[in-house]
Amino acid sequence: MSLIDNFYIGIDDTDSTRGMCTTYIGAVLLERLSRYSTVLEARLVRLNPNIEYKTRGNASICIELVPHSTSDIGRIKAAVLDAVREYSVFKDRKTNPGVVFFSGRVPDDFRAFYNRTMHEVIEINDAEKVLKKHHAEFHKFKNGRGIIGALAAIGNGFGDHTYEIIAYREKEMWGKKRLVEKDSVFEMDRRTFPFTFNNVDGDKILITPNSPCPVLFGIRGENPDILNDAYSMIETGENVKATVIYRTNQCTDAHLEKVRKIADIRPYSSVILKGSVSGGPIIIPGGHVIFELTDGEDHIACAAFEPTGDFRWVVNKLVEGDVVTVYGGVKADVRTINLEKIDVVKLKRLVGEKNPLCEMCGRRMESAGRNQKFRCRRCKTYKTKKIKVDIKRDIEERMYQVPPGAMRHLSKPLVRDGRYLFPVPRFSLGS
Ligand code: ATP
Repeated sequence: MSLIDNFYIGIDDTDSTRGMCTTYIGAVLLERLSRYSTVLEARLVRLNPNIEYKTRGNASICIELVPHSTSDIGRIKAAVLDAVREYSVFKDRKTNPGVVFFSGRVPDDFRAFYNRTMHEVIEINDAEKVLKKHHAEFHKFKNGRGIIGALAAIGNGFGDHTYEIIAYREKEMWGKKRLVEKDSVFEMDRRTFPFTFNNVDGDKILITPNSPCPVLFGIRGENPDILNDAYSMIETGENVKATVIYRTNQCTDAHLEKVRKIADIRPYSSVILKGSVSGGPIIIPGGHVIFELTDGEDHIACAAFEPTGDFRWVVNKLVEGDVVTVYGGVKADVRTINLEKIDVVKLKRLVGEKNPLCEMCGRRMESAGRNQKFRCRRCKTYKTKKIKVDIKRDIEERMYQVPPGAMRHLSKPLVRDGRYLFPVPRFSLGS
């Protein structure tokens, strides 16, 4: 049995929209640290998706390892700090790296901090207080905001989790077109879905990022074995420099919290809220679909924005009085829920009027003169009143979700619950 405590490294905020990716520093470190330690796990931890500081997907990383000896701890720390200095995009104003080192059992305060970081906006000072209380070593570069994500990454205790295999490019390929065979991605998806997910959306492949970062592609799935299989199915026209399998909180809904009332929604949080439709839906310029939801006391707007594609036409079929549970995030002003999923709990019965049916032949009667309102031309029968009929609702009482291309990293695909292989039926505005 090892007498050396497990050692945790948290890193965040090293990248910029113009390049790099904190997970790449993870890949570099896994190679460099293998001389001094046994790596137990690399983790990719997504945090509050609604905050303004994020570059893209608010990702941080944690590496858990066991040093070969206590004297290796200093070498490990030095290797981490060197890599962060070497690869961080310091000239970007928004890049403020942070590194946290911690030995031993992860304190409950770290776990609580992770939970807060998922739902609130945290001050750098809040992270420092927790770190100092537990004598954790931390390093701030520039304003050091990255210590927030670095600490949260260590604090993440993983309930539900998934994995992502990330393949990295040779440096000379960074920023160039990614040479990944599209057909092989569709084939991989066909053979591994639903144990891997969000690989494709319609005729688009989703595994390759759009930014000029070192990532060639990433595949998300339920376990490392399926990811290794899926990886072997991808054909590329360029060399893969390294691969890492990260354990992650992606695709788990870890960001969502249930609230009972609109008044309980906190700025920048992501919520699950039940209510009834009290206005709309309307389509606004830009193609966004908005409706108003009430909990009986307050009202809030719920929006299916244009990038959510066909999901908008599902939302557009709601009517006042429908009972729904909405899933989504809010910004500072808590005025609009940005919809990620919607559970249509109870559809309102809609009743309309139609001309009556002829009792003799069963056909629908036609309007006649003012006195005899409806008649069957064939049977010469007459009726005076319209009949009430149920209007067919073009939407079901079930869960709907935005398509994979519009899904947040943290959103749990419905298929992970064993539901709906096709998350959004192909509706169109007219259907
Ligand atoms: P990428 O997805 O490309 O890795 P990113 O979107 O993860 O980029 P970062 O560069 O990591 O963006 O920047 C996010 C910054 O926000 C980090 O400094 C992180 O510490 C901080 N942060 C994360 N969550 C919170 C929070 N809840 N409150 C305040 N700051 C936060």
